[in-house]
Amino acid sequence: MKLASIQYKTQRMAAVAVDGGYIPLKAPNLSELLNDEHWQGLARQTLASGSSEFIAAADATVLNPVPAPNKVICCGLNYSDHILEMGRELPAYPTLFAKFADTLTDPNAEITSENSESVDWEAELAVVVGSTLRDATEDEALAAIAGYTVANDVSMRDWQRRTLQWFQGKAFDATTPLGPYLVTADEIDPVAGVEVICRINGEEVQRGNTRTLVFSAAALLSYISGFTTLRAGDVVLTGTPGGVGMGMTPPRFLQSGDVLSTEIPGIGELSNKFTLRIPADA
Ligand code: ZN
Repeated sequence: MKLASIQYKTQRMAAVAVDGGYIPLKAPNLSELLNDEHWQGLARQTLASGSSEFIAAADATVLNPVPAPNKVICCGLNYSDHILEMGRELPAYPTLFAKFADTLTDPNAEITSENSESVDWEAELAVVVGSTLRDATEDEALAAIAGYTVANDVSMRDWQRRTLQWFQGKAFDATTPLGPYLVTADEIDPVAGVEVICRINGEEVQRGNTRTLVFSAAALLSYISGFTTLRAGDVVLTGTPGGVGMGMTPPRFLQSGDVLSTEIPGIGELSNKFTLRIPADA
C-alpha cells in the first residue's frame, strides 16, 4: 500500500494512494493513523470496501506524511561505496544525530535559508516506525517497520562544521522534505536494493543503492532501540550516498531559485524550490 497525508479543500487527512487519486482514511494524518495498532488492517479494509469517497490527485495536496513524530533520528556515513571512495574505514557503530518535527517539511514545499549560504543536499531513504521498539533484535525491528519514504537531509554545512557535533547544521526549521508517500514494508526491500537519486534543476548529482548500506534499516532501529524507545510514527533517516556538494571541488551549494528533486523509484519524488534570503544588512 501507498499511504499519504493530504489536504483536500480545508481538510487534512490520511489516505491510501490509488490510481489517479486517494481514498481517505479516518485520521487527520499518518502520524495519527499509526497510533492505532490496527492501522494496517483499517487501511486495507477501507481499500477493499470500495464504498469510500475518492479524491482526484489533482484536487489534493500531498503533505509531510508523518507531521508529528516524537523522534527523528538520522544516520551519518552509511553507504559503503561512498565511505570507501572517501578512503575511510567502515564504521563499527552508526554516527547518529537528531532532528525535530519542526525540521520536517512537505514534499513540494519551498525551502528557505536566511542564516546560511552553504546549503547542501543529502538524498535519503527514510524509515517510519510502525510499533514500539525497545532493546529490539534486528528481526523485531524489521517486523516493526511501517514503511519507507523519501527524505532530503538538507544541511547547512557552515553551521554543521562549527563544532564536532553536526546537530545545528541539520535541524533548521522546515528544511527536511519528507514524502510524498509512505510505502508499506511488504512492498519494498531496501536490503535487496532501491535507488536513491538527487537532482538539481534536472541535473543528477547523487545516485546510490540501499543494498550498499553498512547499517540496514532494521540494524539502525535495533541499535537505536538499545538506548531510546522508538514509537509508531517515529522517523529514521538512513544516510546519503556520494555526490553531496561539500565533496565537490570547489564545493557547490544550493543557489536561490534551484529546484531540488529527490527520488526513490517505487516510492516517489520530492520537489523543492530553494530560496536564499540574505538579510538586508548582511
Ligand atoms: Zn544525512
